[in-house]
Amino acid sequence: MKIVINGIGVAGPALGYWLTKAGHEVILVEEAPRLRAGGYIIDFWGIGYDIAEKMGLIGEIRRLGYQVREVRFVGRDGRKRGGFDVTVFGRVTHDRFTSVPRSDVSAAAYRAIEGKVKAVFGDSVAGIDEHDGGVRVTFDHAPSCDADLVIGADGLHSRVRRLAFGPDAEFVTSLGYHVAAFEVEGYRPRDELVYVSHGLPGRQISRFAMRDDKTLFLFVFRDEYMCGGQPKSILCEAFAGSGWEWPQIERELARTSDLYFDAVSQVRMDRWTRGRTALVGDAAACVSLMAGEGTGLAIAEAYILAGELHACGDDFRAAFARYEQRLMPFLRRKQAAAATFASSFAPKTSFGMAFRDVVTKLMRVPSIAELFIGRELRDDIELPDYGFARL
Ligand SMILES: Cc1cc2nc3c(=O)[nH]c(=O)nc-3n(C[C@H](O)[C@H](O)[C@H](O)COP(=O)(O)OP(=O)(O)OC[C@H]3O[C@@H](n4cnc5c(N)ncnc54)[C@H](O)[C@@H]3O)c2cc1C
Repeated sequence: MKIVINGIGVAGPALGYWLTKAGHEVILVEEAPRLRAGGYIIDFWGIGYDIAEKMGLIGEIRRLGYQVREVRFVGRDGRKRGGFDVTVFGRVTHDRFTSVPRSDVSAAAYRAIEGKVKAVFGDSVAGIDEHDGGVRVTFDHAPSCDADLVIGADGLHSRVRRLAFGPDAEFVTSLGYHVAAFEVEGYRPRDELVYVSHGLPGRQISRFAMRDDKTLFLFVFRDEYMCGGQPKSILCEAFAGSGWEWPQIERELARTSDLYFDAVSQVRMDRWTRGRTALVGDAAACVSLMAGEGTGLAIAEAYILAGELHACGDDFRAAFARYEQRLMPFLRRKQAAAATFASSFAPKTSFGMAFRDVVTKLMRVPSIAELFIGRELRDDIELPDYGFARL
């Protein structure tokens, strides 16, 4: 089949990889002029890790990743208040866990198919018109074309979802937080392989020292701290008087020209497919950063969608139904767990923060840490073998 995939993030190239393996003709379309670089660091493990391994990506992902040692909560004076030893993640996953910039996972997946598929940058699917036996796809710039299927792998704010299913308001649910992230060079101090977080009631600023003398800042805050205006002034108002390194961070924030800023949201849908259109990754079932697993899940969804198309001998209707049946209950459980975690993520009161610090200190006891984290990291789904290895 000829399959147009909108979005070259994580799910798009992963899906392109498996579809190409099964012999389909793939056209990848990305609205950015090139692969998106920079951005936040993500934790990578679970079924996504297993599939990335099948794609031959794990060597590169681990080389570019960071084996974080500690999450450290600090107070206004910079002194440690709580936190835990992250090596427990490695123990409970049998060392199949790393933290890596999202853009490095995207680039690794894209490199695996570069040259084997047609990739168009600086464009977007703009219209989807189904007709007997196919679909007419129009683009913002390129001439329209006929295809068998159109896939929306274009993230949380998917345009394909809007075109085929309806407005964001019907599917995108806020978890009551906003998130912002940016990267700077030459910031001091640095704490290598330590994720340093400063919490205030309802707000949290974190920094992580990356290679090439870069530091990543991540802000998460409850919506009650949202005021009007531009993202930078919203952050300045929400974090004013935070103590710790805030005056320095505020100066860096003023200088950055690449600030990621968005509501922390989930995408909840009853169907991910309609006619000849399907959604994958965040476009279909964004779990939000609170799940800490969206990247791996996007890769898993791509593998299962391509696998079901292969298993159903290209009866795409049957394949789409099986894709939804197989994954929807699992993704719903992931979303429910992330929403529960969100309610305790940035405690609203000083008492709540102190309680969290005590709980995280308990995580120093290996058996307690393994009990808590082992449960959170388990992916209770079996990955089917679609026989791709024999292709
Ligand atoms: C702050 C933050 C922290 C996170 N932490 C983690 C974590 O620890 N672990 C984890 O696994 N996940 C994490 N995630 C989630 C993870 O980033 C996403 O789940 C994952 O990137 C989803 O992949 P995707 O391919 O579906 O979407 P994306 O990676 O968002 O890719 C979508 C692509 O589509 C493109 N696009 C958008 N609109 C169009 C259009 N109209 N036409 C063409 N192209 C378009 C975009 O430019 C982008 O390249 C985090 C997310 C955030 C925001």
